Amino acid sequence: MYQFNYVKAKSLAEAGRLLAKHSEAKLVAGGMTLIPTLKQRLAHPSHLVDVAQLSELQGIKAKGGKVEIGAATRHHQVATSAVVKKAIPALAHLASVIGDPQVRNRGTIGGSLANNDPAADYPAAALGLGATIVTTQREIAADAFFQGMFATALKDGEIVVRVVFPVPKRAAYSKFAHPASGYAMTGVFVAQTGDGVRVAVTGAGPGVFRWKEAEAALAKSAKPAALEGLALDASGFNSDIHADAEYRANLVRVMAKRAVAKLGRK
Ligand SMILES: Cc1cc2nc3c(=O)[nH]c(=O)nc-3n(C[C@H](O)[C@H](O)[C@H](O)COP(=O)(O)OP(=O)(O)OC[C@H]3O[C@@H](n4cnc5c(N)ncnc54)[C@H](O)[C@@H]3O)c2cc1C
Repeated sequence: MYQFNYVKAKSLAEAGRLLAKHSEAKLVAGGMTLIPTLKQRLAHPSHLVDVAQLSELQGIKAKGGKVEIGAATRHHQVATSAVVKKAIPALAHLASVIGDPQVRNRGTIGGSLANNDPAADYPAAALGLGATIVTTQREIAADAFFQGMFATALKDGEIVVRVVFPVPKRAAYSKFAHPASGYAMTGVFVAQTGDGVRVAVTGAGPGVFRWKEAEAALAKSAKPAALEGLALDASGFNSDIHADAEYRANLVRVMAKRAVAKLGRK
């Protein structure tokens, strides 16, 4: 049987206090990852601290060339937000292809980033756009936030409050979804920013990563052909019953080219 105390936090401060007081407590937001984990007995928290309803973690707004999204914002809200669609349509598109309608109506952006599943979509957008993850303790650049499979820079008791995305000149996301779950077998997010081109890859390796060779090539020519024959080290890529490392490496190239082709259509 499950044995934990469920607490609906009344404020961010209370959620923080509960995490500090109970070392085995865990946050729950959409529960889309945590509940299956509990069902498989892979986690045994003493307390579940629900933050999904906290007002401090809600809201989407555009401000000074940036889009801020509260951590408890659900995928469906991002996918259908007029603000996101106008400022960063690729981000709205990415949210619209996560999982299925049930997952999109429960899962949250903060939960997805904190979980950092190697096949999740949001990490590609956060890294590709050079987002900043704002927590109860500090601001963390996406480049420093993602630290490999299910690993992030978050410390014990640190809560993601919001994510700040700089608005790019143009951006696009292309994913080859697993037909059952919707998770990315490979997904590539390409963004043209004032500082150059960023290319973030999810699903292929043990964690989201930037494909630097592609960034350099696309900075010279933002066309799919620029990616032909480009170096891509697949030695650390995932191999499983769905696809081996070489297949995933090929998918990276194909998805990257498709994303770049979409850039050209905007
Ligand atoms: C069938 C299925 C298909 C899916 N398909 C996809 C897909 O195609 N693409 C994709 O990207 N994802 C997919 N997901 C995952 C989904 O997007 C989840 O919403 C997401 O991974 C976790 O978000 P959540 O809000 O449900 O977090 P929860 O499950 O509530 O929590 C996940 C983890 O994050 C922590 N956490 C939650 N909120 C915070 C916070 N604010 N600060 C710090 N830590 C926090 C929790 O303690 C927990 O460790 C799928 C899930 C399912 C069940």
